[in-house]
Amino acid sequence: MRKKNTKKNIDFDYWNLIKSSDRPLEIGIIDADLLDQGTRHPNLALLKISGYCKKFKHNIKLITDYSEIIEECQQNKYDILLMSKVFKFTQIPSEILSKIENNEIVIGGTGFFDMDSPELPYEIEHEMPDYDLYTDYITKQTDNFTKDVVKYDDYINFSIGFTTRGCFRKCSFCVNRKYDRVYKHSPISEFIDPKRKGIYLWDDNFMASSDFHNILDELISTGKPFQFRQGLDIRLMTDKKAERLANVKYKGDFIFAFDHIEDANKISEKLKIWRKYSKKSTKLYVLTGYESQDEIDIENTFKRIKIIMEHGCLPYIMRYEDYTKSRFRSLYIQLARWCNQPNFLKKKSFRQYCIANEDYHQSNTKVIKEYCSSYKAMIDFEMEFPEISKKYYDLRFEEINQYKNK
Ligand code: SF4
Repeated sequence: MRKKNTKKNIDFDYWNLIKSSDRPLEIGIIDADLLDQGTRHPNLALLKISGYCKKFKHNIKLITDYSEIIEECQQNKYDILLMSKVFKFTQIPSEILSKIENNEIVIGGTGFFDMDSPELPYEIEHEMPDYDLYTDYITKQTDNFTKDVVKYDDYINFSIGFTTRGCFRKCSFCVNRKYDRVYKHSPISEFIDPKRKGIYLWDDNFMASSDFHNILDELISTGKPFQFRQGLDIRLMTDKKAERLANVKYKGDFIFAFDHIEDANKISEKLKIWRKYSKKSTKLYVLTGYESQDEIDIENTFKRIKIIMEHGCLPYIMRYEDYTKSRFRSLYIQLARWCNQPNFLKKKSFRQYCIANEDYHQSNTKVIKEYCSSYKAMIDFEMEFPEISKKYYDLRFEEINQYKNK
């Protein structure tokens, strides 16, 4: 976390105050992503900060409405207000932004500083997360755990941490470009809550870690199911790694990444290794709209989808924010809807999926309306690029999956 001003060492002023205050401080914690559109997982930095502050007996409150800040700032209720934002697109009300400008709120996170986001001090980074930080908020949101509980699964049921950090690849779209290598970050004991049923790992590139096997041993010894939440780097798969990963107690799907079409041959080769050992449901993130937003990017997306389907795996389309600038914006959306819902992808070709949408659309109106958005996006692209459409629109998962009977 750092305060966005020009004074030197202001960050340390705050951490020192937290450490040395001779009275309990009132500390308000603000998860900007939560207050904007909500997120599926807690803010790990805030969990650690909360754990650290509680160790010094300070009173921590998660702010759940911006109006609280306005009112309570006026009454000088808080000694410190800390805000974190992970996503750049998260919106913050102008009144709160002016409080940040006036240095009334300390800010941190990649959503504010991108890859220049300052690190937490060592002792906070390695503090046990305070998994209770969001409890009151979730209790309220779920009507005392009687509704929408699944939405908060990551908050309620999982210990979260990084066993390693860093990555050597430096992909230009990634915020993890600060480091040149992968290094061991935390033992599992540092963040595991024995009462929680599983473990989520947020490592940047676990597959590149020289501690791969030791860390797996450590994870297995917990007896709990675990999952690496970022796409694992399948380009680094080996027979030994595949055999080990395929036999652990893994939570949900294995998720790998297929970001660049230039890696097509390597990814095919590595998926073959993976399939030698694992029949488990496997997804690959497919980054779109990044290298370009034209027909070349659309074709590269289809090419990757095809390779993934051939290996009996599922593509998961990730749209880089620039896709919104594309004249094929609607097609990107339709591709994501088709791929990211396995029931559609497994049963229908892209063309069949769009036709089914159009049938539904027309059957739900008495007046013949315009084409639905998916059908329109499909035919508009086909009119302009019939050769690309001919190659990919009719591919069916069950026909091209080479592993369906294995
Ligand atoms: S491989 Fe993954 S973690 Fe590493 S730089 Fe690329 S996107 Fe980021």
